Amino acid sequence: MVDKVRGLMMGRLQPIHDGHMDVIHRILNEVDEVVIGIGSAQISHTLTDPFTAGERIMMITKALSDGGIPANKYYVIPIQDIERNSLWVAQVMMLTPPFEVIYSGNPLVQRLFLEAGFKVTTPPLFNREIYSGTEVRRRMLDEEDWKSLLPSPVVNVIEEIDGINRIRHLARKEL
Ligand code: ATP
Ligand code: MG
Repeated sequence: MVDKVRGLMMGRLQPIHDGHMDVIHRILNEVDEVVIGIGSAQISHTLTDPFTAGERIMMITKALSDGGIPANKYYVIPIQDIERNSLWVAQVMMLTPPFEVIYSGNPLVQRLFLEAGFKVTTPPLFNREIYSGTEVRRRMLDEEDWKSLLPSPVVNVIEEIDGINRIRHLARKEL
């Protein structure tokens, strides 16, 4: 049996959106399995990182199922920040299944994995003006249409956890 080739994608996924889904589909066209690393896993309840790692796992697994990706094609692994860039690749490798290729547009992620000897690929950006976590969260705060940027099961999870009220509450000024 030939060994499986795995690709790694890293993101905070706050929340997973259709741009991330496009990358995940691309990765699975090129390799056997995708390892999805949830970055800054320890952070939640802030305006830039509103959702917990557990909530993000729910969103990701339901979005992938909805996108027709079987559960045996991916791993979702929360990865806490260690604030030591020179050790970060080791932290990722400690927590994840073995992988050979990194898919990332983030220069720091690219650089750290290149220096560790990995193959790094930059996936094309899918309509980045609107498909970005920052834009999704801005629309949530500004009462604009955020739902159309996300797979529908992600919308359902955000509603289940009262995510919009969480973000708007966090944005209030203390009186
Ligand atoms: P934020 O605005 O919160 O930083 P983000 O949209 O940049 O959110 P991240 O969770 O930071 O998403 O994940 C970053 C990775 O996701 C990038 O390195 C890139 O590979 C991928 N990605 C993000 N948006 C897109 C997109 N529109 N098309 C393709 N890939 C994307
Ligand atoms: Mg980003």
